[in-house]
Amino acid sequence: MQGIIIFGPPGVGKGTQAQLISERLKIYHFSTGEILRDAALKGTELGIKAKALMDEGRLVPDEIMIGIVKDALSNNGNSNGFILDGFPRTIEQAKALTLIFDEFGFKDIKILYLTADDDELTRRLMNRGRSDDNIQSILTRLHIYKNTTAPVIDYYKRIKNVIYINGVGEIEEINKKIIEIL
Ligand code: ADP
Repeated sequence: MQGIIIFGPPGVGKGTQAQLISERLKIYHFSTGEILRDAALKGTELGIKAKALMDEGRLVPDEIMIGIVKDALSNNGNSNGFILDGFPRTIEQAKALTLIFDEFGFKDIKILYLTADDDELTRRLMNRGRSDDNIQSILTRLHIYKNTTAPVIDYYKRIKNVIYINGVGEIEEINKKIIEIL
């Protein structure tokens, strides 16, 4: 059972790379953004609440996200492992995840950190066209990323070896680099 956390700013390509990695390593791709967007499409109570926050580029509250991730990881006992995309996004979520891993006995955890500069990120997000990809929401997300999410990497640097990957370039080339390093 191996676990990978893919970390990085909005628009850096976490979802794209996580999908490729999950196919290659036959592990479960778990995207918190996808789960929330599914819930929004279904119109569940969580979905309606999450959609309002997502469209503004704000974060869904920690206790909700931690519950979702704990459920997903506990229901995923028969696969080779998982890649977590979009979580943790706050120090609280990171600390909760450490406790969840301890409780479930998950020890083989790698942290991948994909990077790109702000201009590149804004350009990509503007071209993506998701309902939360308007300029105001993008600026909010980049701001929240810097203030609230980026410190999570400092948390991991203290307890783990963080693998840095340049997220600018051809999708296949970046993926090759990642697979080699993993
Ligand atoms: P991106 O690809 O831009 O990084 P995601 O698909 O990962 O976006 O997430 C979309 C939105 O879902 C976020 O802007 C946020 O509102 C919400 N979200 C996803 N994961 C989390 C989380 N771990 N904590 C709080 N909110 C989250």
